[in-house]
Amino acid sequence: MEKRVYIETYGCQMNEHDTERILRLLEGSHYFETKNVQEADFILVNTCSVREKPEHKVYSALGRFKCLKEKRGAVIGVAGCVAQQEGNRLLDRIPYLDMVVGTHAIPMLPQLLQKIEVSGERVCETGFDSEGNYLKTILPQEPMGKVRSYVTIMQGCDHFCSFCIVPYVRGREQSRPRQDITEEVERLIEMGVKEVCLLGQNVNGYGKGLKEEISFPGLLYRINEIEGLDRIRFTTSHPKDLSEELIQAYSNLSKLCEHIHLPFQSGSDKILKAMHRGYTKESYLEKIDRLKKVCPSISITADVIVGFPGEEEKDFEETLDLIQKVRFDDLFSFKYSPRKGTRAAQSTEQVEEKVKQDRLSVLQEIQKEITLQKNQEWEGCVEEVLVEGRSRQSDQEVTGRARSNKIVNFEGDLSLVGKLVPLGITKAYPHSLRGGIVGYEFACSSKCLLCRSG
Ligand code: SAM
Ligand code: SF4
Repeated sequence: MEKRVYIETYGCQMNEHDTERILRLLEGSHYFETKNVQEADFILVNTCSVREKPEHKVYSALGRFKCLKEKRGAVIGVAGCVAQQEGNRLLDRIPYLDMVVGTHAIPMLPQLLQKIEVSGERVCETGFDSEGNYLKTILPQEPMGKVRSYVTIMQGCDHFCSFCIVPYVRGREQSRPRQDITEEVERLIEMGVKEVCLLGQNVNGYGKGLKEEISFPGLLYRINEIEGLDRIRFTTSHPKDLSEELIQAYSNLSKLCEHIHLPFQSGSDKILKAMHRGYTKESYLEKIDRLKKVCPSISITADVIVGFPGEEEKDFEETLDLIQKVRFDDLFSFKYSPRKGTRAAQSTEQVEEKVKQDRLSVLQEIQKEITLQKNQEWEGCVEEVLVEGRSRQSDQEVTGRARSNKIVNFEGDLSLVGKLVPLGITKAYPHSLRGGIVGYEFACSSKCLLCRSG
């Protein structure tokens, strides 16, 4: 008998992708996705504990679902980082919770669900799997109707930045064998996928511990050869480990999109040291210079934290200075959030909440202006857009992404989905671009597709 599963997802792309994998896995047990929680037989909250806010949202989500347990007898579960971190404590704290499933236990979900259905027992599975079986390919049974897909290449992290919970909740770095990854990409292409985004907390660490000797750039070269694939992206790269070989890949690999997400976290050397990031402001800027030299049209985004313990006004100014020097296309900015068990959380130099908030507002105001200016640089250029579907704004419009990862909307119909369309960029907005099918008078700049192709 068919059943319905509803999943609420918090956090990063890694969690979004885990949710996709869970849905694929559950199809084999005749559970199909519903977007309507009221009709769900199984409700799963896929959680994030990187910052306090998403962690709190988990508890309020579970509170909302309590009545569905009472009304419909729905099975309720928690997956992801909070599940890994809290384990049995979650079952103690929430009496109507049936299941806690950690970051390495996803493949066990169908069996755990069956156990609950048969015995009514509450289950908790949070062991780490040192064999990496949890990374095995889980493909959809049918095409997903998507032109872009994430592909996990590695999990976990060995860096232990002093603010970060990831190594504790995702475990140590583990890479998937190259062949598993390329086979998954080939299967996704058969299902209509044109662009893959390779996922890992620290993609530069790819290859460690594998039988085959292969580096992350080596993997990119192999994926670039796969027929039928149009584009490759990856996230996230750690600045300390960004190699010259990877920088050169931007010039050598036709399918690698001209975009990098390179979190810097702070512009102050004192704070970077306390964070255990392993680079300085100067060495970060040198890498950015190399990237811009090798790939002049590269779009650069990053993560930054304000209010890390011990951050003084002069440290914050160093961060603003770095932002002005690099001129990021976009920034994901966060207030430092103490995470239990991490070194920075024990510091006695915590920054006041108001100071954190003020610094965040100043930084975001500056970046807002830069982002708009960076988007405006594309006006008058021709950009290749991979069309993904109907735009949210209008039924007459479709939407897609440029190689720079910027969203472009334009007038067109759904027959264009999955196609690479050269578009003239006519107008820039803070979060997107507007384009038109080429035919315009374009004042090309050095970023333009036409200029780039000589
Ligand atoms: N592996 C990536 C890296 O090293 O750049 C980052 C992964 S982490 C899940 C995503 C981002 O969350 C980080 O880049 C950082 O800016 C932010 N973050 C992590 N821990 C945080 C904390 N305790 N408080 C605020 N932001 C945090
Ligand atoms: Fe966290 Fe640092 Fe690892 Fe990124 S590199 S996941 S910030 S410990």
